Amino acid sequence: MTPSARPSSAVLAGDSTVTDRLVAANARYAAAFADPGMDARPVLGVAVVACMDARLDLHAALGLELGDCHTVRNAGGVVTDDVIRSLTISQRALGTRSVVLIHHTGCGLETLTEEFRHELEMEVGQRPAWAVEAFRDVEQDVRQSMRRVRTSPFLPYTDDVRGFVFDVTTGLLREVDPA
Ligand SMILES: [Zn+2]
Repeated sequence: MTPSARPSSAVLAGDSTVTDRLVAANARYAAAFADPGMDARPVLGVAVVACMDARLDLHAALGLELGDCHTVRNAGGVVTDDVIRSLTISQRALGTRSVVLIHHTGCGLETLTEEFRHELEMEVGQRPAWAVEAFRDVEQDVRQSMRRVRTSPFLPYTDDVRGFVFDVTTGLLREVDPA
């Protein structure tokens, strides 16, 4: 997630929306697509949890191919209950054994606080059930995410859990010491 830098209209040239553009791109993709005949189980047995940030191209950045991994993304790449749900299914039903956590520099969650929930409540008259999961120190948040994975009672495989910060200006991953 990144702070909004430029407002952009959903409507592009003519009357087509951005979704129309994606659907048209899919028709071209499908025209050239050949069924790879893959199993749903990720080839590398790894699940990657990352921020939804638009500047992070996970497959390119990690040398991943189609079918290699499970990808779980949300605002911040934080380990919420729903991420634990996905990791539990990934490990117990689809054979993954390793977990890679990726936060990044310049994350929008560093600019928010839990006050965001209060402001939402003031605006819409209802407090969201979820935490914003805002953070000040990205490395500290990676450590917290690693701890949540390692201590989850639902995950049978927590030996290979590693956390990183992706630098959006250099493309490099920096590993975070779990201690
Ligand atoms: Zn982010």
